[in-house]
Amino acid sequence: MLTAHLPSGYVLGRLMPRRVAAVMGAALVGAMLPDLDMIWFHFVDAGKWHHHVYWPHLPWVWAVAALVALPLLAWRGLLVPGLAFFAAIFLHLALDTIAGGIAWAAPFDTTLYALVTVPARYSHWVISFLLHWTFLLEVAIWIWAAALFLGRRRAA
Ligand SMILES: [Zn+2]
Repeated sequence: MLTAHLPSGYVLGRLMPRRVAAVMGAALVGAMLPDLDMIWFHFVDAGKWHHHVYWPHLPWVWAVAALVALPLLAWRGLLVPGLAFFAAIFLHLALDTIAGGIAWAAPFDTTLYALVTVPARYSHWVISFLLHWTFLLEVAIWIWAAALFLGRRRAA
């Protein structure tokens, strides 16, 4: 997924039961956080490996983190923001699974599983992704988020 992680977090935040700033903030941060590994990918590893093999894109890492963090957050009265954060993380990973590939079986198997393979039809991979039908899903997420945002503004 190239562009729709942030609006997907917004949609998730709007669908959460408690619509408070902490819940929306947790959803927005969680929806974007795994892609922070792009910094390491570009500036340290110089693009040697697919960034989806780094720990921020590994579901088992976040599952363990959720198992540890959610009871502590619940104890501190922050269960809903915590759930929003981890739901957004797994939403990010699910959306990346459409065409990018995620190692869902790691640490036992590091195969990157993707629902669709985007063929490299154009000179730059970004153009291949932008002109592939899966990009329509991103457009749909943007439209959904915009409709929710504009509907909220109209109601206010
Ligand atoms: Zn990602």
